[in-house]
Amino acid sequence: MEWFASMPKVELHAHLNGSIRDSTLLELARVLGEKGVIVFSDVEHVIMKSDRSLHEVFKLFDLIHVLTTDHATVTRITQEVVEDFASENIVYLELRTTPKRNESIGMSKRSYMDAVVEGLRAVSAVDVDFASRSIDVRRPVNTKNMNDACNGTRGKKIYVRLLLSIDRRETTEAAMETVKLALEMRDLGVVGIDLSGNPTKGEWTTFLPALKFAREQGLQITLHCGEIPNKEEIQSMLDFLPQRIGHACCFEEEEWRKLKSSKIPVEICLTSNIRTETISSLDIHHFVDLYKAQHPLVLCTDDSGVFSTSVSREYDLAASAFSLGRREMFQLAKSAVKFIFANGRVKEDLKEIFDLAEKKLD
Ligand code: 5GP
Repeated sequence: MEWFASMPKVELHAHLNGSIRDSTLLELARVLGEKGVIVFSDVEHVIMKSDRSLHEVFKLFDLIHVLTTDHATVTRITQEVVEDFASENIVYLELRTTPKRNESIGMSKRSYMDAVVEGLRAVSAVDVDFASRSIDVRRPVNTKNMNDACNGTRGKKIYVRLLLSIDRRETTEAAMETVKLALEMRDLGVVGIDLSGNPTKGEWTTFLPALKFAREQGLQITLHCGEIPNKEEIQSMLDFLPQRIGHACCFEEEEWRKLKSSKIPVEICLTSNIRTETISSLDIHHFVDLYKAQHPLVLCTDDSGVFSTSVSREYDLAASAFSLGRREMFQLAKSAVKFIFANGRVKEDLKEIFDLAEKKLD
């Protein structure tokens, strides 16, 4: 675990509100309890419960959103989440979140996202590069200052890019609004769109117009795909050819063939799949088959707070469950650089970081 923590890594599938520290959630719940908005004792055991079905996870998110959806808290959780990932040597983080409107406190989707960006600016423990174009980067890029992997020097710098999530409960208009917001915020590090939310809700055709528009405008797209059996939707998603997909749990032969021939990279979230019982055990996890087929893969956390995990833990878990050595795990981490949504300059910098770290392996 120590070794995987010291290795540079890339995180491409992390939901902001799923990655909050338990201690922060409990503190927020206590405050709302004191104000009489919630009953703290009811909420405490829900936050601390470790095994949850997929259905229970979405109920938990509704509770988390009650606790977190004000500007100052959104800024705070963003700052903490970035610091936590940086502390385990994540050198590039693609953080996704669903822009939310809360009229009672004057929150629009834009002001929610501004609060997220404020959180990126507020990070002081590490240097954060988050602007996708040349404006507003806090300090100039210098890869020599970057996390010096495998020698104990950590957390000096992290690249962060944002994905705006469309929630499957949203309408076509709301999804379109999110895409337009993403376009407006491209200079602030927004690089793409994610489709997520409860997979039992919503129809693919509802989101398609917004996703097509996003693609036409040059945004990159990742889709939560195949979390529950839904052959028709899975096929339509694969035919859409997104830049990446998340999970890919409930595929049948035909979908595996389609996926493999399309070479769409898969964001694999082992702990999340096991905890939500989307996959019954690691020995039958599709990671093995895809890895053997040399299909593009990246190990991710999904919701490090909700599932009490970290990227290092996911690497440790994969190494022991699938009998992979350090070099193989390092190569897996390095290969993820190919699938990031940031531009070529960032890719080059990350490649340099991994090349340097590779020389120090052994
Ligand atoms: P947020 O977008 O509010 O920052 O992060 C939490 C949201 O991400 C949840 O409400 C849900 O829409 C989405 N999410 C988090 N984890 C999962 C997951 O495992 N599957 C799906 N489909 N959506 C998720």
